Amino acid sequence: MKIKDLFKNKEVTLSFEVFPPKTDDGYEAVEKAAARIAELKPDFMSVTYGAGGGTSKNTGNIAADLQDKYGVPVLAHLTCVSSTRDLVREVVKSYREKGIENIMALRGDIPKEGRIAFDYNHATELIYDIKSLDESFCIGGACYPEGHVECERQSEDIIHLKEKVDAGCDFLTTQMFFDNSTLYQFLYRIREKGIEVPVVPGIMPITNKRQVARSVALSGSTIPQKMKIMVDRFADDPEKLKEAGIIYASDQIIDLISNGVSHIHVYSMNKPDIAEGIMRNLSTIIR
Ligand SMILES: Cc1cc2nc3c(=O)[nH]c(=O)nc-3n(C[C@H](O)[C@H](O)[C@H](O)COP(=O)(O)OP(=O)(O)OC[C@H]3O[C@@H](n4cnc5c(N)ncnc54)[C@H](O)[C@@H]3O)c2cc1C
Repeated sequence: MKIKDLFKNKEVTLSFEVFPPKTDDGYEAVEKAAARIAELKPDFMSVTYGAGGGTSKNTGNIAADLQDKYGVPVLAHLTCVSSTRDLVREVVKSYREKGIENIMALRGDIPKEGRIAFDYNHATELIYDIKSLDESFCIGGACYPEGHVECERQSEDIIHLKEKVDAGCDFLTTQMFFDNSTLYQFLYRIREKGIEVPVVPGIMPITNKRQVARSVALSGSTIPQKMKIMVDRFADDPEKLKEAGIIYASDQIIDLISNGVSHIHVYSMNKPDIAEGIMRNLSTIIR
């Protein structure tokens, strides 16, 4: 199932993300977690791609399993900043052979230790390449409601986003954000610039205190006072903080759906209990 068709046919959708293991030893644990999330019957699941490409076969294998064993449509990620054109060609071919129809085309973060490949500079180039290899893939791209960390002016980021969509993006998924007004302002700005494809908010449930610092460091997302207070209040009680984080994310999702933003992606981070909590709160609204 192509995700762009899913969005046309269903008013509200909920999808979950998993990430592949860094080593083959961790494969079974991720497989089990992904299976439990798949049993919740989300509209689709995404499988991330290790930035260096070292776990690329795990991305394809986990995605194919989810599709074949559980009948869940999948979105397999692919990053290009550490890839040669030959590697990209191989991965795209393997996704096609596995029956994967949706690719999240990303640049990836520039490795701190320096780049090992120089064939691609931006996700847009990857999208052109995937399209030239096989036009039938449905392609997703990343976008940043608070601006990408490397871009000084959001207006420039939006110009590059328009180029990315024009290259053949069928939809965009956002970086995490914790205050919905950030997304509404972003949507206003990109629609004004002629970006019309569906924008899927990426919601990250914050369920432990370490995650706050890590999320900010990785994404540059602003933590609102409401969330800081919540984390502070429940910091010493992991179960309470987990429940509060699930409720915070559910509340964000209900507000988005109420405002007509109705295709929601949850960064479930290989944690079935978090996906189950979100589903428990929203199942009536989603169906
Ligand atoms: C939904 C989502 C999923 C993700 N999944 C993964 C994953 O699976 N694996 C992983 O390693 N990382 C993942 N990431 C992280 C992502 O790889 C990083 O955020 C990365 O730094 C940027 O990737 P991009 O595809 O947005 O890059 P790009 O679209 O290439 O943009 C990167 C920067 O380059 C600028 N830019 C773009 N085009 C040009 C141009 N022509 N000239 C000058 N500047 C330009 C943009 O404004 C931006 O600042 C994900 C991020 C999101 C939001």
